Amino acid sequence: MASSLLRQISSSADFSKLKNSPPQKGEQYQPTDVEHLANVITHGLWILPSALALVFMVYMSNSGLQLTTTFLFGFALVLLFTTSTIFHILSYSGKFPAWRRFFHIGDRAVIYVFIASSYTPWLILKEFHSWAEEVLCLVWILALLGVAYAYIYHEKYKFLEMVFYIGVGLCPALCVLDMKDWSGLVELSIGGLMYILGVFFFKSDGIIPFAHAIWHCFVFMGTFCHFLAICTHLLNVRFLEYA
Ligand SMILES: [Zn+2]
Repeated sequence: MASSLLRQISSSADFSKLKNSPPQKGEQYQPTDVEHLANVITHGLWILPSALALVFMVYMSNSGLQLTTTFLFGFALVLLFTTSTIFHILSYSGKFPAWRRFFHIGDRAVIYVFIASSYTPWLILKEFHSWAEEVLCLVWILALLGVAYAYIYHEKYKFLEMVFYIGVGLCPALCVLDMKDWSGLVELSIGGLMYILGVFFFKSDGIIPFAHAIWHCFVFMGTFCHFLAICTHLLNVRFLEYA
């Protein structure tokens, strides 16, 4: 009974109208109008909250180092959502091809900057047995190389791009295990897992309707976990006291 009902619903719902065909090799996926709209909304919604998160972290900082490192994370957060939203608006409009290309490169490049900005507060504010400074330098060198790669090889070698994102995102995590105390590791891992699960949807354009918007949601959940982790374990905010 239940299975026949499900079959009826899935056959009557025409999912083909919600998405277009997957892109050919070397081409970009063309989202449907409703997918374009979802792409704009799912990141545009978080620009203002991330600006408020930035102000909150700065307000809760008790030292110069806390202030500068959490400002960096908050600024990267605002930059991430803003760049993505502008790119998706331009993409939806179908106009201004030069600006669209600029913001498309920016949308990809800012991910590297965001990864480095996410690690920086932990590598500076936490105590480590060793390697923290070296890993911090390495993370930023990789991020700058990633930005250059996004600019030079825009939309080419997409698989390699994916390997770079995951490599730059995950390798420094090994250093985090070297922290003198492991507080925050659970939230950091859950956040990281959100990004990794999201990659599945990032690569599913034209296969799953709204795949890119779902990827956006995973990005937001990852950033939210990392924001909570920074507030709780690096700024010592006790959220329950504010509830
Ligand atoms: Zn996007």
